[in-house]
Amino acid sequence: MKHICPVCGYDELQQAPYDADGNESYEICHCCGFEFGFDDIHDGHTFESYRNKWVSAGATWFYEQSKPEVWDLNQQLKKIERIQPMYIPFWKTKDTPKWIETGKILASNSTDKVPCPECGNHFLMVQDVPIMYANKIERIISCPACFAKNMILMPYNS
Ligand SMILES: [Zn+2]
Ligand SMILES: [Zn+2]
Repeated sequence: MKHICPVCGYDELQQAPYDADGNESYEICHCCGFEFGFDDIHDGHTFESYRNKWVSAGATWFYEQSKPEVWDLNQQLKKIERIQPMYIPFWKTKDTPKWIETGKILASNSTDKVPCPECGNHFLMVQDVPIMYANKIERIISCPACFAKNMILMPYNS
């Protein structure tokens, strides 16, 4: 089964970008060049921030050989809409399962008061970043006390 890139909508990823336990694939998208586990966790990019950077730099293919003869960026970006809700652990910890639980709570109700699973010293903050090309948001969950940060890619209307 092929997977869709949450940055550019390329639908030939060999692996899911993150598995159910939050492990990254380290696969590099042939189209936008995003590496799951590096550009996010190491470089701190959200999908939206990387996408903006990539599109404004001309949206060039990372691996030109994979580019279809007929290619439409906007059509491809619309495929992001088909991605199931996805939990992205930006902040690698031994408590990833706890973060995934936390993410599920805050995916269904962004105003819930949930303590930071990392430090326990503060309630988590939620910020929604709409994805312009698809009916999705990136819900960024962060702790103002210890700066832990995680993210959920989810439908706009939930
Ligand atoms: Zn991509
Ligand atoms: Zn914290």
